Amino acid sequence: MNDYIPTQIEPKWQAKWEADGLYHSDIDPQKPKHYALTMLPYPSGDLHIGHWYAMTPADARARFMRMNGYNVLFPMGFDAFGLPAENAAIKRGIHPKKWTYKNIENMRRQMKTMGAMFDWRREAVSADPEYYRWTQWFFIQLYKHGLAYRKMSPVDFCPHCNTTLAREQVWGDDRHCERCGTPVIKKDLDQWFFRITRYADELLNYAGMDWPERVRTLQTNWIGRSEGASVIFKTVPPSPIGTSARQGRRAEGEGDAIEIFTTRPDTLWGATFMVLSPEHPLVEKLTTPEHREEVEAYKKQAARQSDIEREAIDKEKTGVFIGAYAINPVNQAKIPIWIADYVLMTYGTGAIMAVPAHDERDFAFARKFGLKVIPVIQPEGIADLDGETMEVAYVGGGHMINSAHFNGTAVNEEKGRNNPGIIAVIDWLARQGIGREAVTYKLRDWLISRQRYWGAPIPMVYCQKDGWNPVHDDELPVLLPDDVEWKPTGESPLKLHPIWKQVKCPVCGETAMRETDTMDTFMCSSWYHLRYLSPKYDEGPFDEAEYNYWMPVDTYTGGIEHATMHLMYTRFFHKALRDMQITEGSEPMVQLRNQGMVLGEDHEKMSKSRGNVTAPDDLVQRYGADAVRSYLIFFAKWDMGAPWNRTGIEGTYRWLKRVWALVTETADVMPETRTDLGFFSADTPMDDIYDSMMTRQEGIQNTRRTLRRKVHQTLKQVTRDFEQFEFNTIVSGLMELLNEMYKAREAGGIVGHPEWFEAVDLYLRMLAPVCPHIAEELWQTIGKPYSIHTQPWPKVDEAATREDEITIPVQVNGKLRDRLVFPADASEEVIRAAVLASETIRKYLDGRTPKKVIVVKKKLVSIVV
Ligand SMILES: [Zn+2]
Ligand SMILES: [Zn+2]
Repeated sequence: MNDYIPTQIEPKWQAKWEADGLYHSDIDPQKPKHYALTMLPYPSGDLHIGHWYAMTPADARARFMRMNGYNVLFPMGFDAFGLPAENAAIKRGIHPKKWTYKNIENMRRQMKTMGAMFDWRREAVSADPEYYRWTQWFFIQLYKHGLAYRKMSPVDFCPHCNTTLAREQVWGDDRHCERCGTPVIKKDLDQWFFRITRYADELLNYAGMDWPERVRTLQTNWIGRSEGASVIFKTVPPSPIGTSARQGRRAEGEGDAIEIFTTRPDTLWGATFMVLSPEHPLVEKLTTPEHREEVEAYKKQAARQSDIEREAIDKEKTGVFIGAYAINPVNQAKIPIWIADYVLMTYGTGAIMAVPAHDERDFAFARKFGLKVIPVIQPEGIADLDGETMEVAYVGGGHMINSAHFNGTAVNEEKGRNNPGIIAVIDWLARQGIGREAVTYKLRDWLISRQRYWGAPIPMVYCQKDGWNPVHDDELPVLLPDDVEWKPTGESPLKLHPIWKQVKCPVCGETAMRETDTMDTFMCSSWYHLRYLSPKYDEGPFDEAEYNYWMPVDTYTGGIEHATMHLMYTRFFHKALRDMQITEGSEPMVQLRNQGMVLGEDHEKMSKSRGNVTAPDDLVQRYGADAVRSYLIFFAKWDMGAPWNRTGIEGTYRWLKRVWALVTETADVMPETRTDLGFFSADTPMDDIYDSMMTRQEGIQNTRRTLRRKVHQTLKQVTRDFEQFEFNTIVSGLMELLNEMYKAREAGGIVGHPEWFEAVDLYLRMLAPVCPHIAEELWQTIGKPYSIHTQPWPKVDEAATREDEITIPVQVNGKLRDRLVFPADASEEVIRAAVLASETIRKYLDGRTPKKVIVVKKKLVSIVV
């Protein structure tokens, strides 16, 4: 018997599987397909334990599906463009391309040590020109369909990375750059956007999607749909110069219209002031001379704060009156206009009506600045609200008051059309022509321009005469030049290239200029699952035959941190492509599962600076890939994650050594060579031998039956666990079963019998998805045909899983009085009769006839006397 030495068997099988193309997945109409996709990594250097935690359980599940008869596609690739690669390259002074491709090579090698069933023929690398040619082509399709547009807009800009960031890449209360932690600043730039907002409502529909509730909630909140009304307030025009209100002359001309959005149109009569964002374009115009200085100072102060600081509920309210007034359109009340930093220009219209009686922030503001509070919703059953004495805003339901002919209208706590007060007011506003029903979203269009080098060039050309036009399809890809000063200067590096940007206009042929920004890498990763289908195909982004067979993705796995970025973008992308007749169906990924995070041993996020990083390469060297895989599957609930424990892996390694020992020790035992009854001496009396043989036979029968039961019970549990992504109990189930197998061997009379062969056979097949190498090696050791990975998943023998005996507790008048043992198949009648005949129970009945004897599902007998 050899020792278990993973470093000897693992590379051997990896090489053989690769040479045999064991994991190639090709279209096979005879088989049901299963597209298992796991998120592709950034080529940031070395694989870390988080990659293993994401990929190896996903691989085990893909293998399980394959053993269940599915034709499984499990591809891998690299999200190769983008900031992480570029920043790292800058730090080390190496060209980003060289650095990225070197990392890809290294990580591909490291990934191969996992023994995963990746089909490497389908590898896609987003920085390859054959890939980004189609990323650019998609951009052009979006542009042609009005879904890509260019707009000057203030953008979040990281002064350290020298680039624009998407809203999702700005993190934390201090609004820092996701990549480098530097606080972001605002900058006005001409940028390209994708019109994701056009799909806001559709993105809120998750019908037919098996996605975690958490992700759906995050997306829903991110989209931030609110129903309400849009209402126009007019400003009171300033008095003409040289005249004044004192002279009794009315102000001349029309006031400016200020649109506000409110989710509470039922409280319009309580609007006692208006608040504009300090950045609102009308502030400049409306501010009266005597307030100008104060307003300017306030604007400066507001600009220094982050949106999150400004919106914080508990923040001390600040603001200044700008000297102007508006007219409340429902009751013609003249209300003062203020500016305050809690109103953001980026949400809604940058203007709000303030209803202090029924909004907490407005209330705090009104009290601080002595503004009027008029209650317009009266809660039922309490004294009338008084604006002078209210201590908090009232935000609940009741009926309308101080609201002209709406007085008495019921208001509940529902939103939009589910609220009778809101419906009544919205309909009236529309009839009056002063407002309309409206919906707003927090979702903003997707900003995709990046002033960086390492990305796919945006395939657009600007001509003085013809404006912006896309590059002709036959000129794609627009290649990213290598000879660029890629260190960040704040300008797009491509702009500084001497000749790259000069090009002929696609319309008139005159000298024109290329767009010098590159695309957000989330664009590359929005469609990578399509490129995997046919990574070398050059007549389109994907081969339609492959698309028709494999799509949609059946199971997608990855981290929850992508809930509002990648997972939203890829859904938008698919829907947009659907509307352009490029793809079919509304969703790209049917099922989504998220893994948690492997923390450092100090319970902190792993990071090089903390020194709490675990390197998978070292673990593979020491314990083998199978031990690393099974430990990662075992040590935590997959969706939760857990802190790493360096001694924990020793346990799974020991388990694999015991698997190895048991299978190899019993491998050469054939059934016909076994005589478990042959160790009596010649002088043992014949009767004794006979008795002993019978007893022993019975014992062996029991051992065999018990083992077989345990095997099928484990199989049943492991099958269910794989189906439900409950990976950790798969390994613990297999560990328990191994203990039972050892016990059975100790008891004797089992090794070499059919039950034993079945146990070993099923054990290895259950082990195969988790530990593919050792399972393959032992499969060969027991003389089974190559490969275990093409074997079918075993079927559960339900009859074998049933227990022989059941123990049923018996209660008399609710008190537990006895426990009786029955054969598992005993009928209710038999149980009832036996219970009533029991000595113990007869004692408690004490001669009385029971009123009721209830047998509850063979789990409990309850007697009432
Ligand atoms: Zn940064
Ligand atoms: Zn032109």
